[in-house]
Amino acid sequence: MNRSVPESPEQQLSESADDPITAALQERARADGARFRHDTAVVGIETARGRVRSVRTSEETLPADDVVLAAGIWGPAVAALAGGRLPLVPVAHP
Ligand SMILES: Cc1cc2nc3c(=O)[nH]c(=O)nc-3n(C[C@H](O)[C@H](O)[C@H](O)COP(=O)(O)OP(=O)(O)OC[C@H]3O[C@@H](n4cnc5c(N)ncnc54)[C@H](O)[C@@H]3O)c2cc1C
Repeated sequence: MNRSVPESPEQQLSESADDPITAALQERARADGARFRHDTAVVGIETARGRVRSVRTSEETLPADDVVLAAGIWGPAVAALAGGRLPLVPVAHP
């Protein structure tokens, strides 16, 4: 696994798709009906009356009743797309 610091979400997206453990998890999820969009950025999250209605990617808009935010250190930027504030800060460890 490449453990260099990714410079952007786009870089990390393409690297994780090559990881064998990630690939095995994706295969299992696909068998259960999940669909993946690789190298596709979430660029907008539409809300109405305090609830998420859809997620806009660089390619399409996907209707959504619920959204799991799993953007790691980029979480605050993605939460902001829905008007949310995620108080996440990077902290260096020894
Ligand atoms: C150099 C380094 C070494 C580390 N070593 C360790 C270690 O030894 N042990 C340990 O426990 N932890 C370690 N960590 C921390 C660990 O990598 C993170 O805690 C973990 O990856 C977080 O997982 P995550 O799934 O929450 O987020 P991530 O793995 O960061 O995944 C977030 C994903 O969201 C994607 N994303 C972001 N924005 C968007 C967007 N707008 N649209 C679409 N996708 C988006 C990114 O591309 C990324 O694929 C290390 C981290 C680094 C950088």
